[in-house]
Amino acid sequence: MSLPPLTLILLAPPGGGKGTQARRLMKELNLSHLSTGQMLRQAQHDRTPIGIRAAEFIRAGLLVPDDMVLELVRDALQDDSTPSSGVILDGFPRTLAQAEALDELLALHGRAVDGVISLELSPETIVARLSSRRVCSSCGTEFSVVFRPPSVPGVCDECGGDLEARDDDSLAAVSNRLSVADEGRLQLKEHYGARGLLAEVDGEGSVEEVFARIRGALPRKGCYA
Ligand code: AMP
Repeated sequence: MSLPPLTLILLAPPGGGKGTQARRLMKELNLSHLSTGQMLRQAQHDRTPIGIRAAEFIRAGLLVPDDMVLELVRDALQDDSTPSSGVILDGFPRTLAQAEALDELLALHGRAVDGVISLELSPETIVARLSSRRVCSSCGTEFSVVFRPPSVPGVCDECGGDLEARDDDSLAAVSNRLSVADEGRLQLKEHYGARGLLAEVDGEGSVEEVFARIRGALPRKGCYA
C-alpha cells in the first residue's frame, strides 16, 4: 500500500478559509483533501465511538485528543482508493505532537511533508468570517451569509444540501478555538519554518485572490511543477 506522492499542509486560524482553499486545490490540482474537522463532524454525525467521544471537545472549542485524531488520519492516509497526485492536510497537524506523529507516519512510507502554507489574517476578519459562516450538511462546502452568500439562502450551490451554522462557531467556543489555535499554529510554523518548508500567504481578500497567492507559493514538485 503506498501513500500519495505529495503532502501539503494548509495552516490557518479557524475561519481563515483553509477548508475553502483546500477544496479548491483538491479540484484544480487533483489532490485528496483530508480535513480532520470534517472527518470528526462526519464521525459525530454517524455516531461512531470516536465521534461520540469527540463531540464534547468540539462543542467546547477544544482540541480532540491526539489518539482519536491520529487514528482517523492513519486510516485516511492509508486508504489509496482515491487516485490523486497527493494529499492536502486541512486542520491537521494542530499540535507539535501531531506534527511529529505525521513525520513518523510518512517516514514509514519513505515520504515527508513537502510544503506548508500558512494563511495570515487579522483577528477582525476571523471573527467576522466565523460569525457569518454556514456549512453544507451534505458535502461540507462553506459559504458566508456576508462574504460568499449561496444563490438561494440556506441551500448549497454545489449539491442542494441544507446550510447550517456550526455548533462550534458559537461565541463561547470561538474564543477557546482562537486561543488554542494561535498557540498550536505558532509552534507548527516554527517546526516547519526551521526546515525551510513554510510559506506565509496573505489570507485577506476574495477566494480567488487568496487562491492565486497559494498557487504562487506551492512547492515545485510533481503536479505543481
Ligand atoms: P476545523 O473544522 O478544522 O475548524 O475543526 C473543528 C474542530 O474539530 C476543532 O475545533 C477541534 O475541536 C476538532 N479538530 C479538528 N482537527 C483537529 C486536530 N487535528 N486535532 C484536534 N482536534 C481537531
